Amino acid sequence: MDIRDESSMLATELSSLLDPALCSAVGDTLVSDSSVLINEKTSHPLKVYLRVRPFSKTELANNESQDCVTVENSELVSLSAPKDSAAMKNCERGIGQSVHKFTFTKIFGPETTQAEFFDGTMKDLVDSFTQGQNGLVFTYGVTNAGKTFTIQGTPKDGGILPRSLDVIFGYIRGRQYPKMTLKPYLGNDVMKLDPAQVKQEEAAKASLLSSLKEDGLKTVPSSGNLRNVPTSNDVSPIKDGEEENLHQFSAWVSFFEIYNEYVYDLLDQFPSSKNQKRLTLKICDDQAGISYVKDLKWFNITSTEEACKILQIGNKNRSLASTKMNQQSSRSHSIFTIRLLKLSSGDDPSVLGVSEMSLCDLAGSERCNKTQTVGDRLKEAGNINNSLLILGKCIAALKHSQNPKKASYVPFRESKLTRLFQPFFSGKGKACMIVNINQCASTYDETLHVMKFSAVAKQVVQVIQPRNFEFMVPRIIGKDGKVITEIDADVSIEDLLSEDEEMDMTVMSPEDLLRKIEELKEKLMHERQSKLLLELRIRKEMGEAMYQQMVHLDETWSKRFEDFKETTEEQLESRLEMYKKAIKNHAYRQALEDLEEDYVPYEEFQAEQEKVEERDEKIEQLEIALGLKKESGEASTENNSMSGAIDALTKRSQEKEKIIVSLKLQLQNIKDETDLNIRRLTGENEMMKQHLKIKEQEVRGLQSLAERAIQLESSVTELQAQLDESRKLVSSIDVCEPKPKRGLLSNIRNTMTGTPKKTKPCEKTEETTGPTRKKPLLSRK
Ligand code: ADP
Ligand code: MG
Repeated sequence: MDIRDESSMLATELSSLLDPALCSAVGDTLVSDSSVLINEKTSHPLKVYLRVRPFSKTELANNESQDCVTVENSELVSLSAPKDSAAMKNCERGIGQSVHKFTFTKIFGPETTQAEFFDGTMKDLVDSFTQGQNGLVFTYGVTNAGKTFTIQGTPKDGGILPRSLDVIFGYIRGRQYPKMTLKPYLGNDVMKLDPAQVKQEEAAKASLLSSLKEDGLKTVPSSGNLRNVPTSNDVSPIKDGEEENLHQFSAWVSFFEIYNEYVYDLLDQFPSSKNQKRLTLKICDDQAGISYVKDLKWFNITSTEEACKILQIGNKNRSLASTKMNQQSSRSHSIFTIRLLKLSSGDDPSVLGVSEMSLCDLAGSERCNKTQTVGDRLKEAGNINNSLLILGKCIAALKHSQNPKKASYVPFRESKLTRLFQPFFSGKGKACMIVNINQCASTYDETLHVMKFSAVAKQVVQVIQPRNFEFMVPRIIGKDGKVITEIDADVSIEDLLSEDEEMDMTVMSPEDLLRKIEELKEKLMHERQSKLLLELRIRKEMGEAMYQQMVHLDETWSKRFEDFKETTEEQLESRLEMYKKAIKNHAYRQALEDLEEDYVPYEEFQAEQEKVEERDEKIEQLEIALGLKKESGEASTENNSMSGAIDALTKRSQEKEKIIVSLKLQLQNIKDETDLNIRRLTGENEMMKQHLKIKEQEVRGLQSLAERAIQLESSVTELQAQLDESRKLVSSIDVCEPKPKRGLLSNIRNTMTGTPKKTKPCEKTEETTGPTRKKPLLSRK
């Protein structure tokens, strides 16, 4: 981590430790009546209550009831994932469980009545409120989980707000200060109103209440059973009897919402035209560092009914915003605050103390990724998320900070909501969280998310500065903004405001402004110097702390390393031993197996041994014999003849081999030649084939010619025959005698020519002189 991050974290932590609220509170104790003060802080875990809403008829009809939520006892609840939930799907994939158990300060099941719930959660808080302690209650849960029902309830069956009011008015009954001359101002102060201002105040209240009458909204939530509401004596018995009766009380209420990180007064008149924008309010810190909503409207109330009417008016404005300004009320945080002024008795009383109780109906905690938001809606969704996200971050950081070694930065100032909540985590008063859930299977995953958030919140330890009304006496501010009572009456309220305060400059004179500028310049210089010194100190401390941490880390890691080394060495050694043993065992087993395989009966072995010995002996003898023969150089005739035969055979075989080689060579040559001849013949053959083709073509040409010649010949023959016939005719006319049987015409011709031919000689002539028949030129093949 960057050293600058560390130092800024430390600085923030330091400033949160030196919280102005606490400092001033502690400071104030010094100047207040010590007899009435308890200067000890108490700390206990944040109270987190769970309320499980019953099913509606529609939900039952839609099969929403799948036993997802089981209240085990007053502190333990278990959630079982229904089959279609993402939690169940994750569980099937091996991520997370299907059943989750959560503990709470107290759990209220679906059958719990509004009265039971109030008694079980709010009684102590309201009691201490009437005694001067501040209180904050916030409901957390998805939309439709019963948050508004829990806070406001229905006209017939009121929630914790009307019930708290009943208790408060029960307590102050008969002791209410009837005028409106003293009004809450800034964080913890009271403004003294002059008669004109009082009149204005009265008119404003009348006008506000009349707006409800105009609308005809007459249904006002109440506890529903006022007779059963404890009286002041039941709630907090007046211990000092007469003395307590000397006091008077004045109750004031405000109602605002935080929507899209803007603060809107719900009791301010709603803009009549759509073009007019809703007025936004600023959050400032008072001189004690306590955040408050500047210019918030406060209305004096004298009964629960009046307060509830005002609540209704606020609700109406909230729903107007949703219809006219396209805002979604489930996405806004609405905060209803009651301030109780404890006054001395008499007509012109002094202020003894102020206590404050806020009931915050948080926006639906559902994650916005499901909604298709565009433009403004997207911005709004983002901011709502951001606001609840910061609340989550703060709660997580607060939980984390409880470990002194893990102090972390709590980002209270990153959202409007957490800015207003911050004082309650720094000792301003008691806070409690109400978690609302439904049991619907369809919203199971969101509900699980809410429960996980609550589980973290439950671990936050809240520091509470025990206080009563006199703990921090408020200043009474006059019309001019100057402090009327208190320690330094000359100081105007502006001087007491922290730099964070956004002052209304328009009411200051130019001289005052110049003076203010000079003062602020000086203050700034001082502040810069002190901040610089602080930074240096923090840097030094940080450096030292980091060095210590590094040394510590080094030591721990070295130790860990040594430990690790030792254990690893031990492990390795033991493993080595194991392997050694294993190898030995294996070798032994292998040896046994080999032995078994190689085993030969002793008799067999001996017989074999004898055979081998016999052979060895024979070889030895032969070798000796050979040696002797070589030495004597005698060659036997048998040997000679044998070797001669062998030599002859070898020679012959060599010759044969030579012959074979030469034959092979010849064969090879013949083969080569034959191959060559074959190739040549094949070539010739190819050529011949070509030639033959050409010749065939020629023959086909000649044949067609011959056919024509035959045709011509036959036509010649025909012509010849015709010619012969004509010749015969001519000769018969010229040579032969006319036949008597022939016609008159031929007789005439014969008579005219006078030379009749004889038939026979004529025929002979014809035969000798006639043209010889030509023979065909080419016979058909
Ligand atoms: P949220 O404010 O969390 O969105 P609501 O308070 O508007 O939820 O409650 C949603 C619905 O459930 C309303 O109709 C309300 O009357 C009903 N409801 C809530 N809690 C209870 C309960 N404990 N008993 C009966 N009805 C309830
Ligand atoms: Mg609601």
